[in-house]
Amino acid sequence: MREKLQSFNRYLKIFFESLKLFWKASPLYTTILMIVIPVQGFLPSILINYSSKLVNGASVGFSEASMLVILLLWASLNFFNNICNPINMTIQGLLTDKLIGYINLSLMNKSKDIKGLEHFENPDFYDDLKMIEEEAVWRPVNLMVFGTSLIKNIILISSMLVLLASFHPVIALVMLISVVPHSLISYKLQQDAFETMVTRNPDARKLQYYSSVLLSNENAKETRLFNNFNFFINKYKETFNFIHGDIKKLRFKQLFISIFFILISCILSFLSFAWIIVEISKGHLGVGSILVFSSTILYATQGISAMIEESSLLYDTLLYMEKFFKFMALRNNIYVDGKKKLPKDFNNIEFKDLSFSYPNSERVALNNINLAINKGEKIAIVGENGSGKSTLVKLLCRFYEAQKGDIFIDDTNLKDYDLDDYRSSIGAVFQDFSKFSLSIRENIAISNIKELENTKLIEDAIKKGGFSKTFEKLNCNLNQILGKQFKDGTELSGGEWQKLATSRAFMVDSEILILDEPTAALDARSEYEVYQQFLELVENKTVLFITHRLSAVKMADKVVALKDGEILEIGSHEELINKKGYYYELYTMQAEAYV
Ligand code: ADP
Repeated sequence: MREKLQSFNRYLKIFFESLKLFWKASPLYTTILMIVIPVQGFLPSILINYSSKLVNGASVGFSEASMLVILLLWASLNFFNNICNPINMTIQGLLTDKLIGYINLSLMNKSKDIKGLEHFENPDFYDDLKMIEEEAVWRPVNLMVFGTSLIKNIILISSMLVLLASFHPVIALVMLISVVPHSLISYKLQQDAFETMVTRNPDARKLQYYSSVLLSNENAKETRLFNNFNFFINKYKETFNFIHGDIKKLRFKQLFISIFFILISCILSFLSFAWIIVEISKGHLGVGSILVFSSTILYATQGISAMIEESSLLYDTLLYMEKFFKFMALRNNIYVDGKKKLPKDFNNIEFKDLSFSYPNSERVALNNINLAINKGEKIAIVGENGSGKSTLVKLLCRFYEAQKGDIFIDDTNLKDYDLDDYRSSIGAVFQDFSKFSLSIRENIAISNIKELENTKLIEDAIKKGGFSKTFEKLNCNLNQILGKQFKDGTELSGGEWQKLATSRAFMVDSEILILDEPTAALDARSEYEVYQQFLELVENKTVLFITHRLSAVKMADKVVALKDGEILEIGSHEELINKKGYYYELYTMQAEAYV
């Protein structure tokens, strides 16, 4: 019981926290709702009172004038009561739109604050985040509709209970007592249903994946060639039945429990009504009491069942809101308080005793890395898959915090540099570079968005990044939308996207440039040309490039050969070839393949 109360308190807190969001989304609309909702809750009981006055007046023969006054008062209140509904609906609609915008913008702004990658790669967190993001379009609607209706019904039920208590306090008490267990049980069942959905959330994502495999163009070729539709359809069915089996049971349980409690409250209403009729026949109560009692019971029972339904539906939404608040309270797990500006003419970068394991992974991705790079040097990082090459450059971008050791630039720990300023001096093209469904202009200027209108700079970047030929072939302007997501978008080939992504690197006057094997989509000759051109154009910059094709490596000043997260060899291409060690082994293996 104590546990239940605690969790009830927790949800009450989230409910009030969520209501604060209404205010933040629009103080004006929230104020109007704060007036309209209590009026809607209170007016019915006042109306019932006036109706009963009319009935009693007619039965005992009030004067015409006083009957008219009561009737007019009743009519005006009735008008107010009815007009509240459309006002409430309109304001709710307007406020919901604002709330959806507010919640989604809060999420986007929060993402801006999370500077590292760790959260996004944690599967549990990612499941929650996907759910928060996907449901952010409709959860606020539920919050608004059920939240406001719940408040209205609580006021309505309270005022009806006060009316019932005016007959006899026991009647109000009995009605109240029949509500509490019903609400608690519904609340518990809804909690179970939600938890089944959420703890099974990875399965829910699988469902979505299976259907998308058959419906997306990405897999259209292979699904048709292998004719594996039924395979995915069956997988979908299995997962669907697994998820929905338990929930179905819970829903039926909820139905039977509701029927049981409704039966009890109907019997109690019947007994109370019988008592009232006896009291009227004894002359203790006026005939108007029949009207008051029947209307009050009707309002109260309808209000109660609406409240139970809404509070259990709201429960889902509050669990969603809890995840939302949790995301909003997330803290950076990389150090972000550095203040220093990176000097443009720094002398060197130094990795000192750096060791790193990915969160949620036992494996050491980098082990005791010591590496000094002078400004302007071109560094090739080589090694087999999984040897830690990408991890090394990701740490240089400060996407993670190393568990041991540090990186220094001119003897200043990287952590002490202002993170945004530092990142703005890095140009990078990653293996999995982004393909934005935006215009060519935006796609290129995205790395330095303040230059969006600088057509000359963008055209220059297109030239340097090797995208010119494609741009001419497309015979379009910079406003051409790319990708197939939106109407009139044009799709590029992998190699063309890669050149566009490389062009991005030239939008920024970066001191440090990183190429993390963005050339996978190119053939060996094109790759060689890309690197050659790239390295010529960035003569004074410090460049770290990762490549599998060792022909490009010859252009580097220094080669760093990694194996299992450790640096095995550092030296120029010639030095390492002469050494006849690991690099030599890799190089000859590839050369033989070409011969
Ligand atoms: P490379 O770039 O040399 O192919 P990576 O630096 O990507 O290698 O990976 C080094 C090791 O870290 C590999 O064992 C890889 O499986 C692991 N790893 C890479 N990225 C992640 C991640 N986000 N989470 C957990 N482990 C990762």
